[in-house]
Amino acid sequence: MQGQIRKVVIIGGGTAGWITAGLLAAQHRGSGSRELDVVLVESPDIPTIGVGEGTWPSMRMTLQKIGIHEADLVRECDASFKQGTEFVDWSATDGDNIYYHPFSFPAEYSSLKLANHWLDVSDRGSFAEFVTPQSAVITAGLAPKQVSTPEYAFNVNYGYHFDAGKFAKLLHDHAVNSLGVEYISANVVRIESDDDGDVACVVLDSGATVAGDLFVDCTGQRSMLIGQHYGVGLESMKQYLFNDAAIAVQVPYAKPDDAIASVTRATAVEVGWIWDIGLQTRRGIGHVYSTAHSDEAQAMARVRAYVERTSPGIDLDELTFRTIPFEPGYRKQFWVNNCVAVGLSGGFIEPLEASALALIEQAASIISEQLPANREIMTVVAKRFNARMHYHWEAVIEFLKLHYVLSQRDDSEYWKDCRDPESCPEALRDKLTLWQQQPPWHDDAPRVDELFPSASYQYVLYGMGFRPQYESAHGSHKEEERPRVDKLLHANSERTRQMLGALPTNRELVRAMTSLRGVA
Ligand SMILES: Cc1cc2nc3c(=O)[nH]c(=O)nc-3n(C[C@H](O)[C@H](O)[C@H](O)COP(=O)(O)OP(=O)(O)OC[C@H]3O[C@@H](n4cnc5c(N)ncnc54)[C@H](O)[C@@H]3O)c2cc1C
Repeated sequence: MQGQIRKVVIIGGGTAGWITAGLLAAQHRGSGSRELDVVLVESPDIPTIGVGEGTWPSMRMTLQKIGIHEADLVRECDASFKQGTEFVDWSATDGDNIYYHPFSFPAEYSSLKLANHWLDVSDRGSFAEFVTPQSAVITAGLAPKQVSTPEYAFNVNYGYHFDAGKFAKLLHDHAVNSLGVEYISANVVRIESDDDGDVACVVLDSGATVAGDLFVDCTGQRSMLIGQHYGVGLESMKQYLFNDAAIAVQVPYAKPDDAIASVTRATAVEVGWIWDIGLQTRRGIGHVYSTAHSDEAQAMARVRAYVERTSPGIDLDELTFRTIPFEPGYRKQFWVNNCVAVGLSGGFIEPLEASALALIEQAASIISEQLPANREIMTVVAKRFNARMHYHWEAVIEFLKLHYVLSQRDDSEYWKDCRDPESCPEALRDKLTLWQQQPPWHDDAPRVDELFPSASYQYVLYGMGFRPQYESAHGSHKEEERPRVDKLLHANSERTRQMLGALPTNRELVRAMTSLRGVA
């Protein structure tokens, strides 16, 4: 057959490059079906971005597909278990403003609108507390599963926090040693095209060339193939989300057995917010801010104050603070000719809700699952890929903006600008109008591969203090549903009681798992 796809060349060895290589090789090499060559070229001189430590539950499935054991991840990557995000001071600065966006869905979510029932008693406790035991598990500092729970299974849903550099190394070793991915350490210095504009090969600094049928651009913010070679511009999203820089720092625990939080803590500050991610040996902390509203010195003062407040006794002068500028936005096209962008080369928006790795997982698994057999089919797959990724990016922007537009904070120009309805995407404005009379529901996030299902919207909406204005918000079937709801709430509180009695702390689970080695 003409133009068969037999060799994929991935440029870049960050998380995007290795996840793509791992998924492709696990699915298409040695499976007896189509034998595919997977080559990854990585510059020995250009470091990876080195951040990206919070993931979604989807990472469990990705690791399973690639064939990595959970115990190996926990042991090799300083990893811990993440059950969602804790938002502090987002709606107001009264010192007691906390809500969770947990990973577990509200009970019986496919068919029951528990939100309608909670709205009647919303003054008695949080939405998350009402609908899932996970809220109490997080508050108690417990892990999402027991030591004896099989790998990747759970009592309450979870993803991971891990060291990004160690994670890329684990993926690299597994892809090369177990999945037969060819690794070339070299700088790509030039790209050569054939007559119809496809990339024919990349030229390395050694003078050697690497030819291929499909090229994956994982070169990070450089976007060497899609951005530089094909000239696809970055569509800025600054009109919605203003943050465009981060200051990251790694902070050791005061004592080696200090508790490890099982959520990412995201604390809103005067300009932007601060992430706080607990690994086994350290916390990863970073301040995301808008350079239009704050200079670097002011941002540095804010992150230093946060570290000082949350890590008493730490010598700030021993720490290395790293500033990372970024342009919030995504490419107009992700797949052009025979070249597709995955990861930062395709775009980046601030890491609130950790959507970047989840998007990488989505992109890489679409490429792997729909790997075109030949060049003709590739054109169709590319068109569909572009439409799908465009949808996901729009959804991410809307979901992140929700956290800002609902805030009541007015302690700075930054928060006033964030709340300005003019800075809200029209589709989100429409949804907010609709949610005045009904909770977010499946129609609001209708795809099966949705990054943020409507349950996520419920958690943030009600966590931020949003309440519907109209009577019809209470739904028409409430009375009929009452016996089912009562039974469910009783079962939830029973499950909560059992979990609080049986689950280990995050630290205890991590400690037990680091002594295991790749047990299936
Ligand atoms: C401040 C910040 C915080 C973040 N936090 C999170 C988070 O909590 N959760 C989350 O999901 N995501 C997060 N992200 C995003 C996440 O870090 C990235 O999506 C992820 O690390 C993937 O990066 P990458 O592989 O695309 O790029 P990189 O890590 O930058 O890798 C680029 C690779 O390309 C190679 N390369 C470049 N040019 C050449 C060349 N000419 N020849 C050969 N090789 C080349 C480099 O050597 C490198 O290996 C965060 C990002 C930032 C900026």
